[in-house]
This record gives sequence, structure tokens and C-alpha cells, in this order.
Amino acid sequence: MTPAQRKPDAAMDAEVREKIHLEILKRTGAYHANDHILLPSGQHTGEFIEKTLVTTEPSFTEGLGAVIAKHFAQWPIDVVLSTGPGASILSHCVARAHPSRPLLVYAAKGITGGKRKVTLPAEFHRLIREGTKVLLVEDLVSTGTTLKLLIELVERRRAQVVGIGALWRRTKKAEVAGKPVFSLVSRDFPTYPPDACPLCKKEMPLNEEFVKRREARRPSSTQEKGEN
Ligand SMILES: [Zn+2]
Repeated sequence: MTPAQRKPDAAMDAEVREKIHLEILKRTGAYHANDHILLPSGQHTGEFIEKTLVTTEPSFTEGLGAVIAKHFAQWPIDVVLSTGPGASILSHCVARAHPSRPLLVYAAKGITGGKRKVTLPAEFHRLIREGTKVLLVEDLVSTGTTLKLLIELVERRRAQVVGIGALWRRTKKAEVAGKPVFSLVSRDFPTYPPDACPLCKKEMPLNEEFVKRREARRPSSTQEKGEN
């Protein structure tokens, strides 16, 4: 095969892989399309990912984690670092499948003085220190804010971010703070302010279910607002 032939094949492979992963997420019920959805931000959208459902089927999660681990298999990794329950489950699967047998560590998300932050629990401090090679794993990357905070956390400890693996990337650029993001699905969907929403114009009923669910499980005022 000549290099000229190989390139379209690789592009097609990526397309096919993405389609398979999208089908998996549809099967878990996490991906909603062809709807008119109110987001926590007040914006409207036609598509939505319900993060809590993404990791409900262990064999699927293991398969998805293995794909991310395979992508990073050529690099030694000491620690897989993530935040949040869904990302931690996926991270476990990535760490389990990576040939370096990395440890799994999570940072806690919170808000201090109105600013979002991530903190490494004290018992993990000895696991991320000078020279530690860290793979960051997230389920959904929307704005990249959480990843930026994780990168800062790792670099403050003079450890090294080897890469970023994600299930779904909504950002246009395949990088966060100069670090490439490898994602199983790369797909952004437009969100609209209500007064400029084409779905409102079509008089589609507005689905407020996701915002209601999110508010119902918010335990305290310390819970963060917004998305990843
Ligand atoms: Zn609308």
C-alpha cells in the first residue's frame, strides 16, 4: 500500500471508530439527539450527553477505556488522574488496560471564592511528584476548564502531563492548554440563546428534564455550576 492510499484509510478508520463509539453511547441512553433541550446555562440545544449514564455498562466502559489505553500504550505512564465519578470509572478502565500498570488517582472539584478549582487529596500527594508521568482522563470535555486546572495541578507538583484521553470532546480544537486531546467521539453541537433558538421557532416543546434532574441531585451550595 502506498502512503497516498493509506491516508484516506486511516481517516475512514477514525470515522468508523467514532461511529461505533457513538452507537455505544446511544445504547447506554447517554446521548440524546433530535430533541429541544434546556441546558443548566439557560441555553437551548438539540443534542445532549447525560454524563451519569455514560459508564453504566461495565463491559462497554472497559472497551472504551481499552481504546484510550491502547492509544497511549507507547508512552510510560505512572498515574492516571481524573475528577468526578464518571471520569473515575473510565479512568479505572484506562489504567487497568495500560501496559505500564499506572496507579489511579482522582482530584476533587469544588468552588472557592466563586472560582472553580481542583484539589489533590493529601493522601495522593506522594503519588504525584517531580517527574511523575501523568495521563489525564475525562469523560466529557466541554470548555476544557477542568483539564486546564488538572494540568496546572500536575505541573505545580513538577510532574509531567503525558497526554489527555477523553470519551467525548466538544471543543473545536483537539488540544487544551497546548496538550493534545485524544477522544473517542469529537463532536460539538450548537447551543442557542432562547431568543435565537431555531427549535423554539419551530415550536418544538422544550425538554426541561435534564435541568430538573441536575437541580434535584445538587446536595449543597458548594456544588459547582456549569460544565467541564
Ligand atoms: Zn429553543
